[in-house]
Formats: sequence, structure tokens, C-alpha cells
Amino acid sequence: MAEWKYAACGYCSTGCSIEVGLNADGKPVASRGVAGVAGVAGVADAEVNRGKLCLKGIFEHELFTSVGRGLILMPRNHLWRHWNCYRQTSQDGVTQECQTVAFLFCQLQVFVHQQAAHAVHG
Ligand code: SF4
Repeated sequence: MAEWKYAACGYCSTGCSIEVGLNADGKPVASRGVAGVAGVAGVADAEVNRGKLCLKGIFEHELFTSVGRGLILMPRNHLWRHWNCYRQTSQDGVTQECQTVAFLFCQLQVFVHQQAAHAVHG
């Protein structure tokens, strides 16, 4: 193994701490769980998985070359309608859309809090 790279397992949403081993060509060839990385905030104790991985996580490195793996980012056209319509975009495009959605949810949260305060205090 030429190098181990720390990451969060991307297979499901549990968020297990993982290291992917790269060979001399920089290709992922192995995966292992991480019990924590000393001095790294949020990773120091790896409470989510404490060094263990499920069967999917153990083979995380194989995802990079799996047959049928999606190679293009294809978000839905709309969040609330047209669930089966997708379009191609870039990483920057996805990041920008996530920021927009996060901003809208923050605005909605502020509105709900204001309405709740108005209902209680009149
Ligand atoms: S190791 Fe398994 S449980 Fe943990 S994030 Fe990966 S797929 Fe999910």
C-alpha cells in the first residue's frame, strides 16, 4: 500500500470513518475502518463505527471501478415535482444548488419561529 486516505464511507448515510488504500498508481485497492484520528476534530474517537465497517464499507474501494457506476452528476430537475426528470450538471452546480436549498430552509425556519413567537406573544 502506497498511501491510506481518510474519508467518511460514502456508501450509506451512517457516516463511518474509513481509510481507502491507494497503490503506487494512486488507484484505490483496499479499505479499512478507522477508530479515530488523534487531534482531528470530529474524528478523534470515531464514535459512529469505532474502527468497524460493514460488508459494504469493507469493499468501498471497489465502488470506484464498479460496472454501471454513475460518472455524471444528475440531480432532479425540481425538488418538489418531476421526480423522474434528471439533468446533467457539474460539481459546482450541485454545490450552488445545495447552498440555495440550505438558504431557503434557513429562511423558512426563521419565518416559522417568527410566526410561533407572534402566536404566543400576540
Ligand atoms: S461502513 Fe457500512 S454502515 Fe458504515 S457508512 Fe459504510 S456502508 Fe454505511
